Amino acid sequence: MTKYEAVIGLEIHAELMTNSKMFCGCRVVDSVEAPPNTAVCPVCSGMPGMLPVINRRAIEYAMRVALALNCQIQHHNIFARKNYFYPDLPKAYQISQYELPLGLRGWLEIELPSGTTKRIRIRRVHIEEDTGKLTHLDEGGSLVDYNRSGVPLLEIVSEPDISSGDEARAYATKIRQILRYLGVNSGDMEKGVLRVEPNISIHPEGSHEYGTRTELKNLNSLRSLADGSDFEIARQTDVLNAGKQVVQETRGWHDTRRVTFSQRVKEEAEDYRYLAEPDLPPLYIDDAWIQQTQAALPELPDVKIERYKAEYSLSDYDARVLAEDRVVAEWFDTAVAAGSQPKLLANWIINELFRLMNEHKQNIDQIQMTPADLVELVDLVEKQTINNNTAKDVLAEMLNSGQSAAKIVAAKGLAQISDESAIADIIARIIASNPDKVTAYLDGRDKLRGFFVGQVMRETQGKANPTLVNRLLDTQLAALR
Ligand code: ADP
Ligand code: MG
Ligand code: ZN
Repeated sequence: MTKYEAVIGLEIHAELMTNSKMFCGCRVVDSVEAPPNTAVCPVCSGMPGMLPVINRRAIEYAMRVALALNCQIQHHNIFARKNYFYPDLPKAYQISQYELPLGLRGWLEIELPSGTTKRIRIRRVHIEEDTGKLTHLDEGGSLVDYNRSGVPLLEIVSEPDISSGDEARAYATKIRQILRYLGVNSGDMEKGVLRVEPNISIHPEGSHEYGTRTELKNLNSLRSLADGSDFEIARQTDVLNAGKQVVQETRGWHDTRRVTFSQRVKEEAEDYRYLAEPDLPPLYIDDAWIQQTQAALPELPDVKIERYKAEYSLSDYDARVLAEDRVVAEWFDTAVAAGSQPKLLANWIINELFRLMNEHKQNIDQIQMTPADLVELVDLVEKQTINNNTAKDVLAEMLNSGQSAAKIVAAKGLAQISDESAIADIIARIIASNPDKVTAYLDGRDKLRGFFVGQVMRETQGKANPTLVNRLLDTQLAALR
């Protein structure tokens, strides 16, 4: 049987989180929560004679994305009309970019499970406007909500460089992360503000000619993207193995049955009768604006991860966990700037703070604690004012009360006991009152050592300096041999 390889190219649509819409002054509202048709005006509802005006912020957001994806920014931008007739599109055309998009020829590196990276080329990044939202009723008829009509929409089109469902997911995950870092999109796929459509084809291994592709719609999660792509690869393989041809078409993804199904045979570009939008002037982006936008980009995840590894000696895993979300990463960056021990701070955040945040169901920007507060806590451990276990309790208390570590330690008398003679006295007392255990220990039951440590900690309410306890205990027990 012929062996096939798959190629996948992704089209990603991302709504831009601007205050107002792409070509009018209407607010951009939450498409799930806002009452229908409450953010609509004559422009975005397609009334005759209305004129669009370009949203400067949307262009800037689009440029951020294009630059972060290593695209070349086109100076000369033309908006185009993409004509088609459908009730969610009141003008009967969508303003988009066609021949002269904002960004061209970019790339993004994804990590493969093997630990290597793969570069996915990006064909174009262009601006368009979103359509309204249709709700089809079970009893017949449809409702239309134009709140979404005219919301700035970015389309990011990759080259067909992706080879599997897993790679498609890795690519989309990374795009989503970058969009969030750039503050231009929330990444909420379930709300529809980020939509991913893979184009999938297969061809005999080694062949340079690509096969006929299908395009998948209605994928509402990254898992569906991976599963839907893999399903399509398997389905096309069966079609070819049965001696039939793959039909170029748009297919839907059935989220519960987890299969794809034919939706419509694909239209060609000429069906859209693209033409330059006569109501908008060409948009000229000068070098100064490009440079200004480039300079204002935040440090992006890949660069952050490398920096955490190189400068702070964090493990790859820890670096990735901290860089995952920009707010967390910047919280960590601020803590490092205020303190001196990046590795310790990273451990406290990843092991303890994340666990507590999970318990409280809070994000890092919702907790009652600043990065400087954590630095203070870690310093108390470093100076041996409190031991590690006490510090864990103090951290929990900090999140509950919003009080500083020093305050909690003082108020509760938690400071560590590092007074050698005090600890030695306690140990002597415990040894004296447990003669059987001492004999058993000296006879070789090593595990009993833990019992003695536990007793000291109990007597001191966990406040004894563990290093001292261990040393003094060993000295006293050795003296009995
Ligand atoms: P359209 O706009 O009609 O959907 P494009 O030429 O812009 O078509 O391509 C859309 C996406 O399809 C791109 O991501 C591209 O990489 C991908 N693509 C093109 N040809 C193939 C193919 N034979 N197999 C898989 N993906 C493809
Ligand atoms: Mg397409
Ligand atoms: Zn409007």
